[in-house]
Amino acid sequence: MGTKRLPVFQTIAGIFAKNDVDGPKEAGIDGAVKKGDHVIGTVTDLQARLLFLQSQDYVKRLEVAKKEHVKWHLEGKASPSFCAEFHKLDRSLTKALELVSGLFWESVDCSFPRNWAEADITNDWRLVGSGEEDPDFNRQVLFPDDKSPVRTFFDDIRKALQTTDGDFSADGASLDAVDEKAGEKVIGKITDPRVKALYCAGKAIRASIKDLRPPVGEEDLSQKHAQLEKFGEVVDSQTSLFWAGVREEVDPDDAHGNIGLRKDWVVVSLSKPDVTTVVISLSDLIGSMLR
Ligand SMILES: [Zn+2]
Repeated sequence: MGTKRLPVFQTIAGIFAKNDVDGPKEAGIDGAVKKGDHVIGTVTDLQARLLFLQSQDYVKRLEVAKKEHVKWHLEGKASPSFCAEFHKLDRSLTKALELVSGLFWESVDCSFPRNWAEADITNDWRLVGSGEEDPDFNRQVLFPDDKSPVRTFFDDIRKALQTTDGDFSADGASLDAVDEKAGEKVIGKITDPRVKALYCAGKAIRASIKDLRPPVGEEDLSQKHAQLEKFGEVVDSQTSLFWAGVREEVDPDDAHGNIGLRKDWVVVSLSKPDVTTVVISLSDLIGSMLR
């Protein structure tokens, strides 16, 4: 078991760099259409399929690591440092799995914009809703406007991860300056245009929270609540991917704790967690709920 940081951003970026290959024919799972299931569609997107396979790879690696951990305990070989190493690996694999599988499901939601509670993938890439679900509920579209950043999320992420150059100096200049008095120390600078493009995509998504309105007719709070939850999910997905990219470029050995982004794409280590962006999106969410 190694303690090196998992290159999950590079892995995901590598998936989005693939364009001209035949997509995998099978998902590598047991899933098949069961009696009573309704087939919603087929996942055809190459990147979506590759993300799913990557998530399965993380699942397998987690199983192997967990088995090994138990085995070492049973054989009386597990030292505190072995256990610490195992838990670190367990955490980073779990985080990587959440990120990759989250992106896969966002791609599904963008291709099949419906309001389902449960859906599954079969080995031949069909998307099925379980028979117990209310089909009318499934037919509702959570975000009817196809220009909504929730609907275009996967393509926006794809565009950002396929960025090869671009001038991001104005975006960098709009960030806060380093606050040395607060104990901030410069640890590096983002140079990867994909990471910068991801940051800008996130800014655009957050700005669109102001447009969140109930879809039709009278105020439907449950619908609005579902919209806000979905919105938060998309923001989380973008945020995790962005910070994975930052961390892999400026802190690949995990030498620093909390880090923050500052003017001209400088990255600083912080004495306290940087909650600015979280606070902004939360107050926007609450404000939007009360409107
Ligand atoms: Zn242990």
